[in-house]
Amino acid sequence: MGTQKFRNCTRCAKAFVATAAQRVCPSCAKAEEEQFRAVKEYLNRNPGSPLAQVAEATHVRPDVILAFLRQGRLDASHAPADARLVCAMCGAPILSGSVCANCHKRAEAELTRAAGALGHQQGHLGQAKEGPDGRGPTHKRRQS
Ligand SMILES: [Zn+2]
Ligand SMILES: [Zn+2]
Repeated sequence: MGTQKFRNCTRCAKAFVATAAQRVCPSCAKAEEEQFRAVKEYLNRNPGSPLAQVAEATHVRPDVILAFLRQGRLDASHAPADARLVCAMCGAPILSGSVCANCHKRAEAELTRAAGALGHQQGHLGQAKEGPDGRGPTHKRRQS
């Protein structure tokens, strides 16, 4: 009963009682927090150090450091020089996430356009034309 659920820790695979937001068991969460702090501190003192050097100095696996970086938890201007993230769409250097601001904007514009086209079609069916340039009504924008 209740909302408690057993889940397997994504780091050590141990089963533990998890709330919705927990992916790792409490002891791994603590370890991860300590690793994060170690990496952050090291990079604050030695900004731009090579990934391998950071990993060796902090005893944190490079892929874990990269994950911290990707999550935007590390100061990107201190990130290891050889671990800068690049946009998955155009390859431009980025600070966090997986695509650059430009591609993000473009993807969002495309989404909006797709949603607008949908709304326009629906409006078109029941009503007369809005105008010759095909600009549809925008008051019925859907949030998702
Ligand atoms: Zn664990
Ligand atoms: Zn891009």
